[in-house]
Amino acid sequence: MSDCLFCKIAAGEIPSKKLYEDDKILAFYDISPIAPVHFLVIPKEHIQSVDMVNEENSAVIAYIFQKIGEIAKEAGLTNGYRVISNCGADAGQTVPHIHFHVLGGKELNWQV
Ligand code: AMP
Ligand code: ZN
Repeated sequence: MSDCLFCKIAAGEIPSKKLYEDDKILAFYDISPIAPVHFLVIPKEHIQSVDMVNEENSAVIAYIFQKIGEIAKEAGLTNGYRVISNCGADAGQTVPHIHFHVLGGKELNWQV
């Protein structure tokens, strides 16, 4: 998707503070963190949201979850963390390229 912010970050056209990268996924620090450690994990391929995950594209989502633990350790999250994906308007999704927020570095509260 030529007009997608996270596709551009994945392609290296917009800079990011990278934490992990391979041919399928990228993890980078959130520009506006809401926890002491806050990074995002995205597939390089454009998938709009959790709502658009299907039989054809779900392997990369499984792969993200396979990798999140080791990326979290790399980021210093040794005492737990939270993974969130906002999907659509009611969840407040602002970037329509699926991403998983990984939050930690303190004891997190739980409210919506
Ligand atoms: P969401 O609101 O779930 O769609 O999350 C989008 C996230 O992307 C927000 O937490 C933003 O702070 C973050 N974000 C937006 N632009 C950038 C950027 N250029 N680099 C890193 N994070 C970004
Ligand atoms: Zn995209």
